[in-house]
Amino acid sequence: MTLTATAPWDAATLTPCRDDLDLWFAEKPEVLAVAQALCGGCPLAEACLTGALERAEPWGVWGGRILVDGAVVAVKRGRGRPPRSAPTAPAAVRPAG
Ligand code: SF4
Repeated sequence: MTLTATAPWDAATLTPCRDDLDLWFAEKPEVLAVAQALCGGCPLAEACLTGALERAEPWGVWGGRILVDGAVVAVKRGRGRPPRSAPTAPAAVRPAG
């Protein structure tokens, strides 16, 4: 999709992400789902996703899809406890006496 100056809509006022970009770069999956839903009505969605993939955007919702490290993912995992395979901290040593 090629954007031209003769587009019948004004991208500066019609794109849902123009007001609150925090939604599009949120950590919580439920917040990203809101951004994805809002992208659904955006006239730029197809071009937005294509551009984001070409630029290998590191993160965010683009064209209604979640990108991580330049690739579309189904679900963005939120921050949480580390996986069980992570090394454990050494046990505390109680002083003798
Ligand atoms: S498709 Fe792109 S331009 Fe449109 S609201 Fe979503 S992030 Fe913004």
